Amino acid sequence: MSKGTLIVYSGPSGVGKGTLLLPYLQAHPEAALSVSMTTRSPRPGERDGVEYYFVSKQRFDEEIGQGGLLEYAQYSGNYYGTPRRMVEEKIAQGKDVFLEIEVQGAMKIKQTFPEAVFIFVMPPSWEVLKKRLTGRGTEPPEVVGRRLAAAQDEIHMAEKYDYIIVNDDLEAAGKKLEAVVIAAKCEARRLQETVRQLGGMPSV
Ligand code: 5GP
Repeated sequence: MSKGTLIVYSGPSGVGKGTLLLPYLQAHPEAALSVSMTTRSPRPGERDGVEYYFVSKQRFDEEIGQGGLLEYAQYSGNYYGTPRRMVEEKIAQGKDVFLEIEVQGAMKIKQTFPEAVFIFVMPPSWEVLKKRLTGRGTEPPEVVGRRLAAAQDEIHMAEKYDYIIVNDDLEAAGKKLEAVVIAAKCEARRLQETVRQLGGMPSV
C-alpha cells in the first residue's frame, strides 16, 4: 500500500482555515486532521480530544521529553504541538494527514519531512482579517491585538510554502484546496517510485 501524504496547512488566525478544511475532510474519508496538544484554555464549545488535547504546561513538557511531539511551538503565549503517533500511523495506513499548524512548527516539519506538502491560506486583505478576528467576539481586545501582530509575521512566511490559497470566497477557495491536493500528489518528486517500477516493465 502506498503511504499517505502529510499536508501542512497554515494561515493566520481568523483566516477561515478550519471552515475551509471542514468540507474537504467530510468529502474525503482518506484524509484526516491531526488533533494537536495545547496549553491554551478551551474556547466555549471546544471539546478535549476533538479540537485539541487541552493539557497543562507540565504535561506538555513531559510529552516533549518523551519525544511524543513531531513539532511544537509557542504561539501567542501558549504552546501547541503535534502528537507524533497518530500522524505516523495514519500516513503508514495510506491516509493523508493535515497538520493545521502555525509557521514556526511548519518550518520544523519542512526540515524533518521535506516530502510534505505546504499550503498557506491567505486573507484577501488586512481589513477582512481584522474584521474576522474582531467579529469572533470570543477573545478580549489585547488577545485580538496579539493575534493581528502574529498574523503579520505569518504572512511574511507565506512564500516558504508550496501553495497559497486566498480565502476570498469559501466555495472558490474550497475548489482550490481540492486542486492543490490533487496537483501535489502528481508532483514528479513524489512519484519517483512509480516511475522506477514502470521503467522495469517489459516493452510491448
Ligand atoms: P488557536 O489558538 O487559534 O486554536 O491556534 C493558534 C495557532 O496555533 C493557529 O495558527 C493554529 O494553526 C496553530 N496550531 C494549532 N495546533 C498546532 C500545533 O500542533 N503545532 C503548531 N506549531 N501550531 C499549532
